[in-house]
Amino acid sequence: MILVLFGKPGAGKGTQAPLLAKELDVPTLATGDVLRAAKRAGTTLGLQAKGCMDRGELVPDSVILGILAEELKQPQYNKGVILDGAVRTVPQAEGLERMLSTLGKKVDAVLAFDIDNDEIVRRLSDRTVCENCQTPYTGRKVGDVCDKCGGALIRRKDDDPDAIRTRLRVYDDETAPVLGWYRKNGEKLVTVNAVGAVEDITARAMRALRG
Ligand SMILES: [Zn+2]
Repeated sequence: MILVLFGKPGAGKGTQAPLLAKELDVPTLATGDVLRAAKRAGTTLGLQAKGCMDRGELVPDSVILGILAEELKQPQYNKGVILDGAVRTVPQAEGLERMLSTLGKKVDAVLAFDIDNDEIVRRLSDRTVCENCQTPYTGRKVGDVCDKCGGALIRRKDDDPDAIRTRLRVYDDETAPVLGWYRKNGEKLVTVNAVGAVEDITARAMRALRG
């Protein structure tokens, strides 16, 4: 099962991905994490990604697809994968489809998280992550200590309010048309209300996927 998670930055894709992975028994692949790892490693693709992310801009399609293509060849993805944040533009959706077909695979379903912009700004303004292990927290201050590893909590540069507004604008311009593309191309597209308790959203998503 290849499942693409789709929704605005802060819609909860990163929270739901591991929960859905457990339900569906496939690994997750979060493009953001892969990009940040590439950035830390200082590869050419990683450095290109870093500049874009620091400015709150989208990482170019060629960079994202290049990193994904390498990853998806690994054997742990043979059973399938949940792609979190992999598809943000129509060219990426087209590129992903082409790339998967060279691997003999295709997208089985697209799960779109539905949430409005005010709720997003409120959520992301309240988010910190561990600078060490990247665990996300809400309602915790910058400089607090990570429960898992003792690392310091920081605000990701792309979670600053100005960067959030840029990301939502970019989403409206470039990402929303992707839903239309998937609808037209016949993959199973399901929309789930992404406001509420985490476990309720997981249950809704699973019902929608199985329905
Ligand atoms: Zn940590």
